[in-house]
Amino acid sequence: MSNIRQKSPQVKGSSAPEGTLTPQESSDGAPIALSLESQQKQRRNDRSWAQRFTGTVFSVLFLFAFIYSTVTLCVILPWLSYSVPGVLNLGGFTLETGAALWCFLLCVIVDPGRVPHDYQPDVEANAVIQVKRKGGEIRYCQKCCKPKPPRTHHCKVCKRCVLRMDHHCPWIGNCVGHGNYKSFLLFLIYVSLAVAHSLALLCAHALHWLRMRGEHRQHSIRTGPAGTAVGTGLHTTVFWAVTQTVCLAFCMPLTIGLVMLLVWNVYLALQNKTTIEFHEGVTANIKAHLSGGGYEHPYDLGCCGNLHAICGVNPMLWIVPDKAAGMGDGVAFPTHWDSALDEPAFGL
Ligand SMILES: [Zn+2]
Ligand SMILES: [Zn+2]
Repeated sequence: MSNIRQKSPQVKGSSAPEGTLTPQESSDGAPIALSLESQQKQRRNDRSWAQRFTGTVFSVLFLFAFIYSTVTLCVILPWLSYSVPGVLNLGGFTLETGAALWCFLLCVIVDPGRVPHDYQPDVEANAVIQVKRKGGEIRYCQKCCKPKPPRTHHCKVCKRCVLRMDHHCPWIGNCVGHGNYKSFLLFLIYVSLAVAHSLALLCAHALHWLRMRGEHRQHSIRTGPAGTAVGTGLHTTVFWAVTQTVCLAFCMPLTIGLVMLLVWNVYLALQNKTTIEFHEGVTANIKAHLSGGGYEHPYDLGCCGNLHAICGVNPMLWIVPDKAAGMGDGVAFPTHWDSALDEPAFGL
């Protein structure tokens, strides 16, 4: 008899009926292996990393190239040149853009996490096994025909289950999950820095241009038409002016939107919640209050513990854009009840 029947799932505030058969079990309790047909179907649905480079992803890459080239070629080099502020701005902006681009590519390429073919819920382990709200059965994906680990959800776009799924992001053509959540968080940090930096440079250059234009006019009035021959050092051709205006028009809403998205994701990360879990938590909280109880997010290990779980053991590497996934295998996660029992999470 399998573990599934020997012990009901351990869920706080929920009682799962004993002996409930999941769709994957046979009558004698032995797990049935995925049929060859379902495995082939799963392979057909799997998209390679190259297929994630959709038109939307290419439009983001084009926007990267447009903003970087406009800011460097129209603002930094002609205006600040190779002065100390010029070199610092060029170096800083290139670093921010490079890191954002690298994180973006990691978000697209890195697999967000798939359920192992041989995954079976280990209800003997001291872990929370989530169950369906109705019926108390162990979480099971009808589309993939396999049990779902805690925090795993099925993505309709990717057509498969994704470990610790946060959401499907069309801008990266991929799901944000266990495998690429750190890259996604770092992407938001670096891209917010880069667009805010772009916005500041473009605004400063526009103000400088307006001031110089005003001075140039006054100079022309004083000296007559001959004074117009005096160069202002500004690149004020219509083409560059339009390019900078278009870039500014993109950077303003982008900065606001990305900073808001960053704040939201930092808020979630500090609680070790996914976007899906946040929405589920709101519903669970209301239900718990109505029944006179309380709801706690089981994976909240405290700010420091949560950052360790998401960004890795070494804090020195938290801001390094590498392709490291969150701690653990994405199938089992430590809970704050583990911490209460003084059981170290992932060897911390
Ligand atoms: Zn699924
Ligand atoms: Zn997806």
